Amino acid sequence: MNHIIEEDLKELNHNLSDLSDKIEGKKFLVTGGAGFLGSWFCDVLDSFGADITCVDNISSGSKRNVEHLMGKDNFHFINSGLLEFESDEKFDYIVHMASIATPPLYMKYPIETLDININGTRKLLEKARADNVKGFLFMSTSEVYGNPPDDQIPTKETFHGVVNSFGPRCMYDEGKRAAEAYCYSYYHTHKTPIRITRTFNVYGPRLDVEGTSHYGRALIKFVYQAIHGTPITIYGDGKQTRSFCYVTDQIEGLFRLLLTPGIDGEVFNVGNNREITILELAETIVKITKSKSTISLESQPNYNLKDDPRRRCPDTSKANRMFGYSPRVDLETGLKRVAECMRKNEAI
Ligand code: UDP
Repeated sequence: MNHIIEEDLKELNHNLSDLSDKIEGKKFLVTGGAGFLGSWFCDVLDSFGADITCVDNISSGSKRNVEHLMGKDNFHFINSGLLEFESDEKFDYIVHMASIATPPLYMKYPIETLDININGTRKLLEKARADNVKGFLFMSTSEVYGNPPDDQIPTKETFHGVVNSFGPRCMYDEGKRAAEAYCYSYYHTHKTPIRITRTFNVYGPRLDVEGTSHYGRALIKFVYQAIHGTPITIYGDGKQTRSFCYVTDQIEGLFRLLLTPGIDGEVFNVGNNREITILELAETIVKITKSKSTISLESQPNYNLKDDPRRRCPDTSKANRMFGYSPRVDLETGLKRVAECMRKNEAI
């Protein structure tokens, strides 16, 4: 395993040690467990001695992310789509992360994206109910807010969204919104102990192993382009903003959200609230990597900028109040780690 990931996992284990009793020996089902966030989640579970069932069909994740866990007694990898997955095992916790999350990919596979979020979530909620789980974590997204107006930035959980149900991002946005509605309904009908995270842009080692391809997300693509001295491809004018959270901060937040008592039936933003334009992000990456890349402001022919949110930034005060969430890693530090990781091991 890459030494940056090892160091980060050690740090996460240390920072979450107060929760170890709630994890050790418990049975966790993690869908999408071979994906970027799923595999980090599985690693932390493993470090605390949980029993992990990881379901993934490797459509957008990678076996490489979890291959170091294969063969361990406490790790069970099931190569299956969620809709075909069946299990008689009784789980203590269900963590539902399976979904395509990269815009060009969900635009390419719209029906699968809707199915996994709507039918997949319904199926897992039934399982959660049958198993009487202690907690059900659903990975939702800032995309449920769509394109918020300036007076809703930073965005609180109480904002209902400005979302297009009939446009290029609808399959992801509306899939996640319907899944949230299922979670809400199971909580209010059956008291299923759901907790929802609305995740903003997250980055770190293992983000998109296809980072070299045109499917890559902006941050990881820019790091790749900067390291290789090729032009940084900005879509549109580069004035659109995002807020980038380093993976360890995100994972720590998710564990606290799932395991803090008394917050069933609640939804939380988890992310980093430093808002930055995509152009500034590109400039920062060029500087940090001491790259010779030029920054190319151009609309890419294969990418649909319609409904691309102009601004995105979370208000994380609710998570801070309810479970002490506070990101630790600043953007420059996180970017240096990602760049070092990529240089050492091209396929992070
Ligand atoms: N973007 C870009 N160049 C790229 C890829 C993405 O300028 O090569 C832009 C994209 O249009 C969006 C922002 O960067 O405004 C963040 O894109 P990302 O792929 O991270 O996904 P999103 O935050 O839109 O879900």
